Amino acid sequence: MRHNESALVLFSGGQDSTTCLAWALSRYARVETVGFAYGQRHAVELDCRGPVREGVADLLDWGERLGEDHVVDLGASLAALGATALTTEAEIRMNADGLPSTFVPGRNLIFLAYAAAIACRRDLRRIVAGMCETDYSGYPDCRDDTLKAMQLALNLGMARRFVVETPLMWLDKAATWELAEELGGAPLVELIVERTHTCYLGDREHRHDWGLGCGTCPACALRAAGWQRWREERL
Ligand code: ZN
Repeated sequence: MRHNESALVLFSGGQDSTTCLAWALSRYARVETVGFAYGQRHAVELDCRGPVREGVADLLDWGERLGEDHVVDLGASLAALGATALTTEAEIRMNADGLPSTFVPGRNLIFLAYAAAIACRRDLRRIVAGMCETDYSGYPDCRDDTLKAMQLALNLGMARRFVVETPLMWLDKAATWELAEELGGAPLVELIVERTHTCYLGDREHRHDWGLGCGTCPACALRAAGWQRWREERL
C-alpha cells in the first residue's frame, strides 16, 4: 500500500466503479469519490451510490480510508447536448455512425475534467475511473488512448501531475468479477451483486445470480455473460 497516496474515484454505483473503488482502497491511504447527475433516464444508479459506499466501508479496513463523496449536478446540461438513449426514452440500438444510441458524446471527457477540478481542490493525485476497452460497448471515450490524452490535457491545463488510472482497461467482465473477489473476497462480490446497479432500463425487480436487472438490455447482458464465464472458469 502507498501510505501517502490519495485518489479520487469516479463512482457511479455500478459494478465497474465499485470494483475501482475497492481497487483504490486496497492501495491508497485516502480515497474520495465523485458522482455525476446528468439527467440519466433512471436515477436508480445514483440511489445505489450511498448504500454501496456504506457496504464498502464495512469491508477490511477500508472505512478508515474512505473519505468524502462529491456529487456534481450537471442538471440538464449534458442531456441538452444531444438526446441519447441514456438520457431520454429513445430506443437502445446501433446508430448509423456505428455508435450505440446510449453514447452521450463527450460524457467521460466532461466527467474527467470535473473530477480533475475536484482533485485539484482536494489535493488528490490519482484519478481512478472504470473505463474499459475490452467490453467497451463501442464508446470512443472509453479507449485507453482517449484516457492517456485526457491525462496529458488535464496536467497541462491545470499544471498538475495527475495520474489517471483505469484498472479495468484490459479486463473483460469475467475478469472484473475475479478482480472484485481478489480485492474483497466473497463479501465484496456479494455487495456488488446485491447493491450495485447496471441495467439501462432501471429494473430493480428481477433478481438473477449476478444481481438485479431486466436481464436483456446490453448492460445486463454484458454483466450476466461475464458472471457466467467467471463462474465457469472457477470450476
Ligand atoms: Zn437491463
